[in-house]
Amino acid sequence: MDRAFDYGSKGWGFESLQVRFCFFRVFPKMKKDAAYFMKMALSRAVAAERRGEVPVGAVVVRDGRVIGSGGNAPISDCDPSAHAEIKALRRAGKKAGAYRLNGAELYVTLEPCLMCYSAMVQARIAKLFYGAGDPKNGIFASGVFDKVKHIYNHRIAVESGLLALPSSTLLSGFFQARRGAGAVERDGLENRYGE
Ligand SMILES: [Zn+2]
Repeated sequence: MDRAFDYGSKGWGFESLQVRFCFFRVFPKMKKDAAYFMKMALSRAVAAERRGEVPVGAVVVRDGRVIGSGGNAPISDCDPSAHAEIKALRRAGKKAGAYRLNGAELYVTLEPCLMCYSAMVQARIAKLFYGAGDPKNGIFASGVFDKVKHIYNHRIAVESGLLALPSSTLLSGFFQARRGAGAVERDGLENRYGE
C-alpha cells in the first residue's frame, strides 16, 4: 500500500480525495526513481515530526512498488525499536507475507543505526539508500560497520547522500526548535541524531 500518500487509512472523505486528486494532477507523470521514493520517505519523516518524534522516515520498495513505509515512533509506540526502518520493514514483511524481502530496496532519510542495519540484513534487503549521514549513531560514519561486518552473512549495496540536505535540514530544525523550547534531553532524543 502506498502509505506515504494515504492520508489516514480511513480518510476516504472529500478532503482526502481532493488531496490525492490535486497531487496526481500536479505531478501526473512523476517518475518513480530513487529520488521519488526518498521524497516519500521524507514525507514519513515530516509526519513523524508532527507526532513529536525525531523526524526520520523510511520506505521499502520491491519491483518498483512500495510495500511498506514508516516514520520514527519510539515515543508514541512506547517501543525502543520503533525506528523508521523497523516500522517500514515490519509493514513490508506483513504485506509480503514473509520475513525475507529478497530484492527489496530500503530508503531512509537518515543513516541507519546498528539495530536497523542488522534488521535489513535479516530481511535480505538488496540495496539501501540513505539521505543524511549520522556521525554519532550511523553504522558507517561511526566506524562500527568495519568492526562488525564479519558477522553478516548478507551484503547490502549502499548509496548515501540521496536528498541529504532536506533530510538533515528537517532534523536540524527539529532539534533547534526543541532547544529553543528548553526541551533538550540528555541521553534522549538527541541520541537518535548525532549533533
Ligand atoms: Zn535505527
